[in-house]
Amino acid sequence: MVRLHSSSGRIPLRNAVGISIALAVLLGAVLERANAWETEEMIKTRGDSLKIAFVLGQASHFIHDLNVPLHAVVGESQQQHAAYERSASFPTWPGAQYGYRGFFLVKNDKCFARETAERSGKHAYDAMKPVPPRAVIERTWNDAVNDTANLLQSIFYRALGPETSQALYGIPTPKGVIGDGWLCGL
Ligand SMILES: [Zn+2]
Repeated sequence: MVRLHSSSGRIPLRNAVGISIALAVLLGAVLERANAWETEEMIKTRGDSLKIAFVLGQASHFIHDLNVPLHAVVGESQQQHAAYERSASFPTWPGAQYGYRGFFLVKNDKCFARETAERSGKHAYDAMKPVPPRAVIERTWNDAVNDTANLLQSIFYRALGPETSQALYGIPTPKGVIGDGWLCGL
């Protein structure tokens, strides 16, 4: 059990990394199931487009949610959660140092989800401060946008292959591979 100070007193936090891994495994399993078993197959066979759209929406939601640091821990108050999410909204890129980093291929969804939660969970303490640091909000927002773009493009890339996904949707050659760490197979 980890404790930290906040304006409302001392907040018990369970081990943030442990929780984030558990959450990531759970959401990763959903992502993996949704994508690998259903969406990619449906895309390959030009299946039910409404169903494909729905599952892609779910996948976007899940990977975005994992970038919210307070989704990787428990113990924060409702006000803290709401305060963070209210401030984590930008109509355009929040600064010149942020932006789309280009297409990186997601190799394994479960692994990608875990990596994402581990990365965002590191900011949980800052995210619970009465005024969450702007830099944390901007960085995690930027990561969420990039992760969502990478996941969606990866689903099509994996289902259709490089040539067809490029020809149909302009998905370029990946700049690298993500979601491919040593924990992937666990
Ligand atoms: Zn939330």
